[in-house]
Amino acid sequence: MNVLVTGGAGYIGSHTVRALLAQGHQVTVLDNLSRGHRDAVPQQVRLIIEDIHHIDKVRRILETAHIDAVMHFAAHSQVGESMENPTIYYDNNVVGSYCLLEAVRQAGVKYMVFSSTAAVYGEPEKTPITEDMPYCPTNVYGQTKLMIENMLAQFSRAYGLKYVALRYFNAAGAAADGSIGEDHTPETHLIPLILQTALGLRKSIKIFGTDYPTPDGTCIRDYIHVTDLADAHCRVLSYLAQGGVSQYFNLGSQHGFSVRDMIETAKQVTGRDFLVEEAPRRAGDPAVLVAASGKIREITGWQPIRSSVETIIADAWNWHSHHRSGYDVSQ
Ligand code: UDP
Repeated sequence: MNVLVTGGAGYIGSHTVRALLAQGHQVTVLDNLSRGHRDAVPQQVRLIIEDIHHIDKVRRILETAHIDAVMHFAAHSQVGESMENPTIYYDNNVVGSYCLLEAVRQAGVKYMVFSSTAAVYGEPEKTPITEDMPYCPTNVYGQTKLMIENMLAQFSRAYGLKYVALRYFNAAGAAADGSIGEDHTPETHLIPLILQTALGLRKSIKIFGTDYPTPDGTCIRDYIHVTDLADAHCRVLSYLAQGGVSQYFNLGSQHGFSVRDMIETAKQVTGRDFLVEEAPRRAGDPAVLVAASGKIREITGWQPIRSSVETIIADAWNWHSHHRSGYDVSQ
């Protein structure tokens, strides 16, 4: 298929681009490079530097490249930033996605795979989380992703677009060959921050909240390897192409690890010790987010294969220790 990947120069998008290429798809990347990295896009892939807000330009790109499917990753994704500066989340995520959807509608693209999040569930009533549980985001980021899911459902109903929204739990890790990995500016995600601390690039790792109702008082998350996520995107594309109905799938390992667990595992995997500090809670963080991901396993045969926390941290460590400054300067 001809696939357009928005945000294909970003973290999850770039890993998915490689998975799509390995499956024989023709891939075009559309990215405004506001947060993505040119070097994350393989040489043989056409990179179009454009913004999803430009409906006419995006429609022309879709038509000219005869795009069958759009995979939509282009979004801001930081919980803390979304609480401090909601306007950029509504503009980039909600308005941007509306514009992209309108271009998709006008160009008659058949399929869309959307990069959604477990944050749509907010603070769940029970765990693990199944797809039918209530939506009640506790942060602006999750709210914007929920609004986009609703737009997709409405466009699907009205115009026949077929889509899957993938609700990621905590994406982590890096390509096993060390070619691409996670590089955000500023970095806010737990594993890269821990590893930068292990490398001596940061003074300490702060634990945001030690009074949560969890066994060790720190937040529990379900970490899923980015290459397992990428594989899921290829599988749902085949599912849609084979006539699968539009729907949502959780993507997680079904195992929860606390912030303290992750710090201890990182110390073992890296063989380094580093300073850990306790800090207040971060706004908008639910205590526990663990996926039930039986639905996608059953329907598409997806299985996470690199998502033990040891493998996730080892792959991430391989990337970070060889790219101390991310994509800018390899050392
Ligand atoms: N976290 C932390 N210290 C940090 C960064 C994150 O304690 O420096 C915690 C955060 O509060 C959350 C978990 O680690 O409970 C995962 O956070 P991250 O930002 O990686 O992902 P999120 O769950 O927000 O998508």
